[in-house]
Amino acid sequence: MKKWSKRTAQVHAGTRRSQYGEVAEAIFLTQGFVYDSAEQAAARFQKLGDDEFIYARYGNPTVRMFEERIAALEGAEDAFATASGMAAVNGALMSMLRAGDRVVAARALFGSCLYVLEDILARFGVEVVLVDGTDPDAWSAAITPATQAVFLESVSNPTLEVVDIAHVTELARAAGARVIVDNVFATPVFSRALELGADVVVYSATKHIDGQGRCLGGVVLGSRDYVRKTLEPYLKHTGGALSPFNAWVMLKGLETLDLRVRAQTETALALAEALEGHAALSRVLYPGLPSHPQHALAMTQMGAGGTVLALEVSGGQAAAFRMLNALQLVTISNNLGDAKSLVTHPATTTHQRLPDEQKAVLGITPGLIRLSVGLEDPADLLADLTGALNVI
Ligand SMILES: *Cc1c(COP(=O)(O)O)cnc(C)c1O
Repeated sequence: MKKWSKRTAQVHAGTRRSQYGEVAEAIFLTQGFVYDSAEQAAARFQKLGDDEFIYARYGNPTVRMFEERIAALEGAEDAFATASGMAAVNGALMSMLRAGDRVVAARALFGSCLYVLEDILARFGVEVVLVDGTDPDAWSAAITPATQAVFLESVSNPTLEVVDIAHVTELARAAGARVIVDNVFATPVFSRALELGADVVVYSATKHIDGQGRCLGGVVLGSRDYVRKTLEPYLKHTGGALSPFNAWVMLKGLETLDLRVRAQTETALALAEALEGHAALSRVLYPGLPSHPQHALAMTQMGAGGTVLALEVSGGQAAAFRMLNALQLVTISNNLGDAKSLVTHPATTTHQRLPDEQKAVLGITPGLIRLSVGLEDPADLLADLTGALNVI
């Protein structure tokens, strides 16, 4: 199984067949499991075998199939699936930190990740230092030997800043800190985070892994020792378990992940190239474009620009809203990685909570629009986007 390439692993890895020999993975929609005897129950609570389960908050066969499949795809020893991407981020951080610890994180993060770091961890006496993730010297200065953990989005939401994972992990290793990479925008298809030295990788499976906007889910990946000894005790007792039904949706989503993400990425690049220089836009931000400040890094780290781009319209929020409202095919929604192309205005939605000064520092300007590119015909998408841009 370890020899399979990513494309094969995403279809086959982790499959557990029941006595019926089903082809499609079974949904074990059960919270509990029966025991042949009181002795067997007692033994299982003492030590759980590989194919043994006791309660779905701790584990479930369908959830386990998803965990094993994505672990094989990512090249991780083990994984624990969670109810959402945020349960994964929160679990990865809370399970390894205690009062007095220091965390260094990139400042350009998804709004809820910032909340966990700045509000929750700070409340429990964890020092959180935020740095410009694109500045190698800022990381060098901040990652001191007093640092226990480093947190970053390999490509940031929504401004698409790319962090040099190899540089950060080298500094963290020297300081004895663990690196957690929120890898949603890179997707498992373009991810090399573990190979580049990251200790823990986190995904919101809600995004590309489901890929059709149906279920919430998340997963934390890392070494067996970390997953079983540090992460699992925290997650199984605090209740962030993934539902077996959602795990099944994610399992089936993984089977087509490579095809979808590559097609969406190809379209994203074509749109970015076609829209760059449009008179209504002051900027097109896409890691796959040579004009992106970290284009070279994105190409070596991921080999592609990903499925999301950001457009900055001239004329601020009023112009951005006019464009969004003029779209006829692309839908206004704040999910991403979906088969349907979706646009959002981060300043008034996903990052609304941030003070204006922080938005300005992060580049979340009033004219910024995030576009998650779907599976539609690129020509139809371009016609819709240019039509809406021409309205402003
Ligand atoms: C969406 C997202 C999350 C949170 O995932 P949910 O499944 O919505 O909880 C975390 N990090 C990033 C980068 C995201 O885009």
